[in-house]
Amino acid sequence: MPRKVYVLDTSAVIAGLVPGLAKAEQATVQEVLEEAKDLCSKLELETAVAAGKVKVVDPSREALDEIGKRVAQTGDVVSAVDIKLLALALDLKRSGEEPELVTDDYAIQNLASLFDLPYRRIVMPGIKEVLRWEMVCPACNRKYTPAASQCEVCGSFLVRRPRR
Ligand SMILES: [Zn+2]
Repeated sequence: MPRKVYVLDTSAVIAGLVPGLAKAEQATVQEVLEEAKDLCSKLELETAVAAGKVKVVDPSREALDEIGKRVAQTGDVVSAVDIKLLALALDLKRSGEEPELVTDDYAIQNLASLFDLPYRRIVMPGIKEVLRWEMVCPACNRKYTPAASQCEVCGSFLVRRPRR
């Protein structure tokens, strides 16, 4: 039997580590922990990581490249963190496990479908109020709405981050 592993994005982590899935293995990437720490569930998160409930894993370079190429083709607006999560899920699948992305992010869901990676939405009303995103220029730090993809001033591609 392949092991089921839930791959959590930041909104999933903030939603409380997906209540009810506690028995399954859960994994995420370091950057998600950083994003989540800036929001609200720091203590809960650190406790879960310390207890081994949530594993922090770095995806392989191969999977990162593969997802990155596909993102460039589709033009989906996803952050570097999202790419790492998708790459992590891809690695898990290829090592014979059964990953499932847990995310409410439409762009991640779209890419997950392209790679035939299962996903589930977070069933938690109110999460959208908790977590709002903004786009930020990595070069000049200007802020944009979630619909923007490129900096109007310097032309850099924007990165997504939780709005604080
Ligand atoms: Zn800029």
